[in-house]
Amino acid sequence: MDFSVPQEITMMVETIRNFVKKDLDPISQQVEEEDHIPEEIVEKMRGLGLFGLSIPEEYGGLGLSMLGEVMVQEEIAKTNGCFRSRISTNNGLGSQGLILSGTEEQKKRYLPKIASGEWTACFGLTEPEAGSDAANIQTTAVLKGDHWILNGTKIFITNADCAQVATVFALTDRQKRAKGGITAFLVEKGTPGFSVGKPEKKMGLRGNHTNELIFDDCTVPKANVIGGDAMIGQGFRIAMQVLDKGRMTIAASAVGAAQKLLDISIEHAKTRVQFGAPLAKLQAIQFMLADMATQIYAARQMLYHAACLRDQRGTSVIMEASMTKLFCTEMAGRVADMAVQIFGGMGYTKDCPAERFYRDLRLTRIYEGTSEIQRVVIARELLKD
Ligand SMILES: Cc1cc2nc3c(=O)[nH]c(=O)nc-3n(C[C@H](O)[C@H](O)[C@H](O)COP(=O)(O)OP(=O)(O)OC[C@H]3O[C@@H](n4cnc5c(N)ncnc54)[C@H](O)[C@@H]3O)c2cc1C
Repeated sequence: MDFSVPQEITMMVETIRNFVKKDLDPISQQVEEEDHIPEEIVEKMRGLGLFGLSIPEEYGGLGLSMLGEVMVQEEIAKTNGCFRSRISTNNGLGSQGLILSGTEEQKKRYLPKIASGEWTACFGLTEPEAGSDAANIQTTAVLKGDHWILNGTKIFITNADCAQVATVFALTDRQKRAKGGITAFLVEKGTPGFSVGKPEKKMGLRGNHTNELIFDDCTVPKANVIGGDAMIGQGFRIAMQVLDKGRMTIAASAVGAAQKLLDISIEHAKTRVQFGAPLAKLQAIQFMLADMATQIYAARQMLYHAACLRDQRGTSVIMEASMTKLFCTEMAGRVADMAVQIFGGMGYTKDCPAERFYRDLRLTRIYEGTSEIQRVVIARELLKD
């Protein structure tokens, strides 16, 4: 496998590294305390093209390869995780259904606005009774004349509070469910019967919010079925394809955050003096640093390899995407734990970034398929005929 990275990706990574250092790191703590990203920062993110990393150039995005995207996402994950989360749905969950299955008309209408960040896109699959068991959604869509009438509630929807358009999955055939009975819709803010509900009080990722999406006799034009009439009933397949890509970018965020934790742990170990010498002189600390570095190295190779495979094969990297998310996020959890240990008591306080990463990273093992669901997917792929 050729791991040479095209120059445009190296340059983009360098640009984002500088942006993180100059603009994001200095306000990380402020964003944490205020639970809000200042609008001028979002505007700078728009200017850098961060909302359209994976959207094809013909629709106004940067059209990065999967390798390019994971490298950029890795870089932006080295600061407060809410910044990456803010751009995540435009690049992943909120736009991929359209890119993979949308009609040309839908792509032209929505993708340029999503790519520029003028609009935020979100993704509504999860419901109170349907998390890991996504096929068990209860939201319904019934055709009446030229409109579908949606009823139901979605929960935990990232960026719902700032989104202008949502990809929403609803039951159009109760009997068929995942096998031809779920349809994907584009629902715009302001659609009659559509509202955004209360935000969840999360453990971490402050500065980025998840809310309910509520559909109360919500009237969605027929033209807003993703992919048009031919795709009625194909929503579950679309959702699974979208998640397959998202898993790779979550893995990237885990690798980036873990690298940052290693960097600050090394710095701390060199400067914190106990027993008359820096912590870095202690073999117990050295071994933790060595284990962190080794695990990050392994995870990063896996991530880049899976990304290259996806670039070569298109979308069919189901098993590798699940393996990569599982391995990278579990690795980051272990690294965060060691980082807190190296910082000692300070690592348990809000003044130490390790404390924030520790909480924020916990999510990566839960959303877009828990670690257990990744194992289910991997085992299913291994055991299929
Ligand atoms: C901050 C945040 C942001 C999110 N953003 C979005 C979003 O933008 N859009 C969206 O649609 N959803 C979103 N989600 C929802 C997320 O994808 C789900 O929380 C996740 O898929 C798990 O579902 P659940 O919470 O219902 O857990 P459950 O499915 O109830 O799982 C509970 C436990 O049981 C285990 N389990 C369940 N089934 C199995 C099985 N078959 N085998 C083994 N173990 C199993 C799980 O692994 C887990 O440990 C978000 C969630 C959070 C917390």
